Amino acid sequence: KVRVRFAPSPTGGLHLGGVRTVLFNYLFARHNKGEFILRIEDTDQTRFVPGAEAYIFECLQWCGLQPDESPLHGGPYAPYRQSERKPIYRQYAEELVKKGYAYYAFDTPEELEEMRTRFKTAENPAPQYNHVLRNEMRNSLTLGEEAVTRLLGEEAPYVIRIKMPVQETITFTDMIRGEVSFESSRSDDKVLLKADGMPTYHLAVVVDDYLMKITHAFRGEEWLPSAPVHIMLWKYLFGLENMPQWAHLPLILKPDGNGKLSKRDGDRLGFPVFAMNWTDPKTNELTQGFRERGFLPEAFVNMLAMLGWNDGTEQEVFSMDELVEKFSLDRVHKGGAKFDYEKARWFNHEWIKRNDVSTYKDQVKALFAQHNINITNDVVFEKVLSLVKDRCTFLNDFITQASFFFTAPATVDINAVKPKWDDKKNLFFLELIRAFETDLLWEHEELEKQFKEIAAANQLKPGELMLPFRIMLVGGKFGPGVFEIAGIIGKAATIARIKALLQ
Ligand code: GLU
Repeated sequence: KVRVRFAPSPTGGLHLGGVRTVLFNYLFARHNKGEFILRIEDTDQTRFVPGAEAYIFECLQWCGLQPDESPLHGGPYAPYRQSERKPIYRQYAEELVKKGYAYYAFDTPEELEEMRTRFKTAENPAPQYNHVLRNEMRNSLTLGEEAVTRLLGEEAPYVIRIKMPVQETITFTDMIRGEVSFESSRSDDKVLLKADGMPTYHLAVVVDDYLMKITHAFRGEEWLPSAPVHIMLWKYLFGLENMPQWAHLPLILKPDGNGKLSKRDGDRLGFPVFAMNWTDPKTNELTQGFRERGFLPEAFVNMLAMLGWNDGTEQEVFSMDELVEKFSLDRVHKGGAKFDYEKARWFNHEWIKRNDVSTYKDQVKALFAQHNINITNDVVFEKVLSLVKDRCTFLNDFITQASFFFTAPATVDINAVKPKWDDKKNLFFLELIRAFETDLLWEHEELEKQFKEIAAANQLKPGELMLPFRIMLVGGKFGPGVFEIAGIIGKAATIARIKALLQ
């Protein structure tokens, strides 16, 4: 049975790349009728950020990417938060030491620092704790059994490091990249268990993928350099049995294709890179997210799916159900995907048009309330939203496009009609008011008929009168059919708005 996991470290808001990893996990799991697990990788206590985990849950909920098992949902392999699994990892680390695949290292931070300066050369500006330098350091490979036993007895602080083999070629098949090979001695001897007894990511990810029976592991391309360490751990601990198939997802690139997309690019070019608003608890700095910018989750997800995947046709707009049905790894690109904010906007526009307004009317209602417009009649509200949704790229655009239905326009662009205004037009509108006052049914077809008849009787072209009429009702040169607007806002408001401009 297919089991995949999204394994974020709760260190801050989720950026586009993170959510896309969730999405590909989710689509792969659903497509294969498998299970999608969320595991919180919070073993690095120095990087722990309060609120980040709750943010992840809220984000998955907003995007409609709910996991089957998680710290919140529970599941057969609980706990799903690595900090709560601390005792599990030590035994695996000790087992590696026993088998000779890992060793205790007693070096103090000062000694490590000293090593970095002592061995620094022009060719090797950042010396690593590796198969060469481990021989120079204080560890169970150099100290001899007696000293090690004594140090352990004294409770001297230590870490456990993997002993990377020398001259071994590590090869695995990545589901996206095909065969990938590494030379083992290029990797340093990564710490597996820290002095505080917590595992590092490297140990925890392997142990948990094993214990949680993960079959396929998707993660960002930035983790590719860590893969050899993980494969060695799989080999040493579990003889490679049931190792998940790896897929390293392509990066999301800056709009010009020059490197990985970062928060700074968003700040500079004026678009969000986080899924939802994120406030850094340390600095109180707020970073705006797609949700708060007015993106619909359907559009956000659709846009992310197309960053690195397509179904082989020209189709771009996909619902979640269609994505689940069509998703396949062989159509995930190897190369990075350029982020294009214009395209993101286009997706949102498409989804605002495509969705029934009932799916987002509550959000728009809340936006209206922020502008002191209280909606009392949902039937009318939905009718209005349907009438103008083709003109909206963001939910916020409904304010401009629809608030005049519920309140007289705050500003009226009189200058747009003034130069062509004359007594004949004035008379026409006075007559129109009289006709409207006696209208009982107030249906837009009938209003249009009356309007045209009065225009004809006054030898005026309806075309010339329509713009002033629109500006009276809407405030500017925009909006749907002007008679439909009059029909919806009602008799009293229509007449009042005509009068306001005549005076
Ligand atoms: N905890 C890692 C991260 O924060 C996950 C990498 C993986 O999925 O293996 O990105």
